[in-house]
Amino acid sequence: MLQDAHIHIQDLKNNAFIEEFMDAASYNAIDRFFGCAITPADWPMVMTLASRYKGFVPFFGIHPWFSDMPTPSWENDLRALLEKLPGACVGETGLDKSRKNIDMDDQKDIFRRHLVIAREFSRPFALHCVRAWPDTLALIKETAPGLAFCAHSFYGTPEVLSEVLALGGYVSFSAKQLLKPDDLLEPLVAATPIDRILIETDFPYQTKWTTPADYISILRTAYATAAGIKGLLPEQFIEAVLNVSQTLVSK
Ligand SMILES: [Zn+2]
Repeated sequence: MLQDAHIHIQDLKNNAFIEEFMDAASYNAIDRFFGCAITPADWPMVMTLASRYKGFVPFFGIHPWFSDMPTPSWENDLRALLEKLPGACVGETGLDKSRKNIDMDDQKDIFRRHLVIAREFSRPFALHCVRAWPDTLALIKETAPGLAFCAHSFYGTPEVLSEVLALGGYVSFSAKQLLKPDDLLEPLVAATPIDRILIETDFPYQTKWTTPADYISILRTAYATAAGIKGLLPEQFIEAVLNVSQTLVSK
């Protein structure tokens, strides 16, 4: 069984296509997803996907790109969802300095509020961080130390990787980068312990695709490449990553 540690299936929008996509994935033994919401507007759809598909682990939150438009009741709504769904996690949330139009104070405020709620419910969170590692790590240390999280599409320095691991973080590498691993990515994959590593697509973003078959081929290639870097057979690596994902959500 393959798993995708960061995906936005709800953004396929069209229900018939979502069904076609999930059927094709399941037929190809891709059965486990960390399905991340982006704004309160897509929380109901993420909840529906979680109720419809057994291997779909829902994450509820506000992406830093949308930190400037939280709904007035989002924190209460998030608490209600976490209370209702014991298997649900928080996110995606974090900081993104590449988005200059989204005020950094707003981003920090919303991120901190996510961390407070994640800690309150002892739930892991999906972390988005672009060019903001010092602030991100400081906020986690201050607000939710020791809480499990998944650093999605990780592409930080080796020093940041060490800090993420020391904080108890899990590290998810993106299929897009694994399709063409560069000199920075390979050592990061190699240095991430086998009990902390995950693989993701961020589908339908990051990579070009037109059919579910493209998605399946992208995810499989990513697993094979990462397994090669780790010096493992693909089957060994796939099994290890599945264990990592189960450990992460049971924290
Ligand atoms: Zn995402």
